[in-house]
Amino acid sequence: MKLTVHGGIGEKGRTCIGVEHDGIRLLLDAGVDTSARGAAYHPAITRAELERTDAIIVTHAHEDHVAALGWGLANGFSGRILMTVESAAETDATLAAYATPEERALARQAPVEIIAPGADFALGSIAVRTGRSGHVVGGIWCHLSADGRSLGYCGDVVPDSPVLAMDALPPSDLLLVDASYGTDRIPAVERGAAIRRWLAAHPEGAVLPTPLSGRSIELIGLIETPLAIHPAMREALAQQIAAATWLKPGAADILSARFAEALLWEEGRTLPAAALLVDDGMGLAGPSKAALAQARRERHPVLLTGGIPKGSPADTMLAAGEAEWLRFPTHPTLPENIALAAASGADRILAHSCDAATAARLANDIPRLVTGLKPGDTIEI
Ligand SMILES: [Zn+2]
Repeated sequence: MKLTVHGGIGEKGRTCIGVEHDGIRLLLDAGVDTSARGAAYHPAITRAELERTDAIIVTHAHEDHVAALGWGLANGFSGRILMTVESAAETDATLAAYATPEERALARQAPVEIIAPGADFALGSIAVRTGRSGHVVGGIWCHLSADGRSLGYCGDVVPDSPVLAMDALPPSDLLLVDASYGTDRIPAVERGAAIRRWLAAHPEGAVLPTPLSGRSIELIGLIETPLAIHPAMREALAQQIAAATWLKPGAADILSARFAEALLWEEGRTLPAAALLVDDGMGLAGPSKAALAQARRERHPVLLTGGIPKGSPADTMLAAGEAEWLRFPTHPTLPENIALAAASGADRILAHSCDAATAARLANDIPRLVTGLKPGDTIEI
């Protein structure tokens, strides 16, 4: 197998990994980089390469993994699109926020083949296995093998989420780990406790921008103080909470009980004395745009809990001291990535979703990590 980096290695965002074997060409994910402008917003892949691509496997419907799907269709891709039923249901909302109306329309019209974690299939002579990623409901990792060689692609994973279950990846010769958090070593339980303490110290309430999928239900599972949501989020959250096969045992009951008690806030209303969850996580789209603007006007507390792209409204507020930031983990810590790399038995590891300098630092702790790769580079597996 030959791997080509089209995005997401040596940089954060626009994750897109090409794999070629025996005349079959496929892409793992097709994301955008929300902090980039111009050509770097989309994967580094030519029209000729897109025209030759047989299939795209989408690991989950976050913008850095799926928002370039319509762009690909507009630029020559006409192959198979494979994703879980949950990711397929979310993709349109992601493209509404991060793609052009034309790209969104193309993605809506394109047929999607539904895959399920644990149900193996093949693309030509490449055997494909997927499993639950623990990152979002409907999120999967992907394992490819052909001619006795294999590639593990984490996509985004959370090995020890309190809410979402992750399946173990099979051994592989090359493993791509989710290095979104770089050298962060602080365990999730400590991070969660810090958020709870911060909320308890802000009884007047706070706005918590969060992606609609994944982190929102994790926060619902974490927060024990009063909770509020925007009505536009209700259906999507209810679906995630009902998706018991993706959750850890017992999690659905806790989430359902807290969700049932959540207050509702919408534009034009007073911000509630509660932890108000609004999507997206950075104030670029969804009800978080209006909630952040209102919080800014009224000097209401704002707590950011995820990655904040430069230049986004959340980033501006953070820089101005109008928001605080405490990480809620939705990616692996360094010790978790060291464990994933060791468990894979892989003789080469690649770090995705981090810049080159971060990958170089990770190489001190993750044995056999290959650094220096960037979009346009290829390696043989
Ligand atoms: Zn993600």
